[in-house]
Amino acid sequence: MVSNGSDSRLTVITGPSGVGKGTVVKQLLQKHKKVWLSVSATTRLPRKGEIEGEDYFFLGKDSFNELANKEGFLEWAEFAGNSYGTPRKPIQQKLDSGVNVLLEIELEGARQVRRSFPQAFQIFLAPPSFQELERRIRNRGTDSEKAIEARLKRAKEELEAQAEFDAIVINEDLNKSVFDLEVLLGLVS
Ligand code: 5GP
Repeated sequence: MVSNGSDSRLTVITGPSGVGKGTVVKQLLQKHKKVWLSVSATTRLPRKGEIEGEDYFFLGKDSFNELANKEGFLEWAEFAGNSYGTPRKPIQQKLDSGVNVLLEIELEGARQVRRSFPQAFQIFLAPPSFQELERRIRNRGTDSEKAIEARLKRAKEELEAQAEFDAIVINEDLNKSVFDLEVLLGLVS
């Protein structure tokens, strides 16, 4: 069996905005009910169809900062003008009860987790090319031109950091990426 070589049950998935992390992770969760995805808090406004408590906890800036000051986040970071954070308490509860926990977060957050949870396994989901990533971000059609520019700039920085990760999965084909994650998480033999 191929496993991620760690007995930790905390896995971080990072990759530039638009690479398809959400889609890949959703498919993985549908196949493996025992994997739990942390729901982050954000100050970003909900996109069409996003559900409070399912996609994110949508917080005002004051509430977010208050929680951050109370050490309520395992990690948090600014991304394209908004704040995003992983609520600490549920993670600890799930890990204590032996559940596989997945964090889908950006680069700065992944770096913070690397410091506080060095035993966590960190995966980078990469696009086949930068041009393809830009196409995916633009096709999503949910962000303003300003937000798109900010995401593309950040994407370049994130791609440059991929060597920091324990494993890199290139998201060219959805099923193949899901399978690669299953192998890395030790969910298939
Ligand atoms: P989006 O606005 O597209 O939902 O997310 C923007 C970026 O924030 C994505 O790269 C996503 O993975 C990241 N993100 C989501 N939740 C968190 C979190 O709790 N912490 C950090 N550091 N990044 C997050």
